[in-house]
Amino acid sequence: MTGEYNFGSSHSSGSEQFDLVIVGGGMVGLALAVDIASRDDCAQLKIALVEATDLNPPTAVEDNLFDPRVVALSDQSRQLLVALGVWSDIAQQRACPYVAMHVWDAEGTGSIDFHCDDLHADSLGTIVENSVIVAALRRRVASFANIILMTGARVTDITLMDEQPNISDHEGQSWNLLSLDLSGTAMSIKGRLIVAADGARSQLRDLAALPVREWDYGHTAIVTTVKTQQPHQFSCWQRFTQDGPIALLPLANTHAHGSLDGSNGHYCSLVWSAATPLSEVLMAQDDAEFCAALGSAFEHRLGKIVEVAARHAIPLRQRHAVDYVCPGLALVGDAAHTIHPLAGQGVNLGFYDVAALADEIGRACKRHLPLSDYSILRRYQRARKSHNLSAMLIMEGFKRLFGADDPAIRWLRNSGMSFMNKQTFLKKQLSKIASGQAAL
Ligand SMILES: Cc1cc2nc3c(=O)[nH]c(=O)nc-3n(C[C@H](O)[C@H](O)[C@H](O)COP(=O)(O)OP(=O)(O)OC[C@H]3O[C@@H](n4cnc5c(N)ncnc54)[C@H](O)[C@@H]3O)c2cc1C
Repeated sequence: MTGEYNFGSSHSSGSEQFDLVIVGGGMVGLALAVDIASRDDCAQLKIALVEATDLNPPTAVEDNLFDPRVVALSDQSRQLLVALGVWSDIAQQRACPYVAMHVWDAEGTGSIDFHCDDLHADSLGTIVENSVIVAALRRRVASFANIILMTGARVTDITLMDEQPNISDHEGQSWNLLSLDLSGTAMSIKGRLIVAADGARSQLRDLAALPVREWDYGHTAIVTTVKTQQPHQFSCWQRFTQDGPIALLPLANTHAHGSLDGSNGHYCSLVWSAATPLSEVLMAQDDAEFCAALGSAFEHRLGKIVEVAARHAIPLRQRHAVDYVCPGLALVGDAAHTIHPLAGQGVNLGFYDVAALADEIGRACKRHLPLSDYSILRRYQRARKSHNLSAMLIMEGFKRLFGADDPAIRWLRNSGMSFMNKQTFLKKQLSKIASGQAAL
């Protein structure tokens, strides 16, 4: 736990009470806390942000040393981070806008290219390391007196208000109870509303018995940083193979003040999604073998792979909660939906959840509704669930389309991509969706 929270100091007996308890201090949980705390209507809310790990994010980035986990942020997500007052901090640390996206099919001749000029925009999106986003949001959280950050605190159990109607205050209002393991010490806190932002394997989702539809892609993503012989040209590169997509995402290897002329752009973040047996072989290779395998799998589009950092294997599963809400609790981000990384939409969808839930909480505060009012959560679910589901279905469709080895489907997919590449209007619409300028 950090110095931000002093257990026992601010309540006389029983568990400390909060209007809102956000569980999970990843990108989504932190953004939600900042979004709500920034609203004038919510200034009176007392917010607890509970994070299981006690690691502090790095205070500054190091040249040519990158977090292996990155995200491609849509323009809409970037604008949210601007509104939350963290974008300038992120851009000052390290962020790499990309101007083009090149996608091609390994099994045939289909390809499609997007360029920001088609949208009269400066970029199609921005690649940012997860730790850079988390660090900027953590600094912003520290500027709000009404957010209490508890790190090294894992939620181990919850009792929701509908299960325990007798947990109520002198006004007869209900509370949810959370049991925490604080570095080996058991404690509890109460919240009017709990938001689970605790990631893909959400423990709170399980504790609240919210069912989830889940299927295994049979894929594992290998993520790392590589250095390429040729510059990345501030473009995202994605090759679809029958085994899964391989993406090289551009990284800025100087601080944001570095020029965007492409002369310094040789570092890329790799996301190689492959059938799990193949990923095990790739993980077992030494660096030289891996660089050679990647170079050839990528048809040497960026020349040789010159260097590779430590590799990490992440099993990929798709998950979608049947309901995002139940009385007293809401799911956001990966806790509600986990999607294949092939179109880089995961955290973008999570940030759209944040904006929708913060809007509903802001509206409730304005109308002096208690946060235990279930209509807040129902409206949030209505705003987000169908959008997330359609994004997931489209990704699943892509994955199946590119995973098929039926010659008819391969022909269709190659001709479809090449056809689409020539259709200015359709391509523009696709670019808008990919960059977050249009909804799916
Ligand atoms: C290979 C790969 C590539 C990706 N690329 C992209 C991309 O390009 N673009 C994009 O938009 N998305 C991408 N994603 C998805 C993106 O990384 C996720 O959507 C995002 O990290 C989810 O953020 P989150 O805050 O919801 O969850 P997390 O980042 O998982 O954060 C959850 C937090 O909750 C904490 N926690 C967990 N359990 C508890 C508990 N019981 N008590 C207290 N705290 C707890 C954890 O410590 C953690 O800090 C990618 C994902 C993968 C796997």
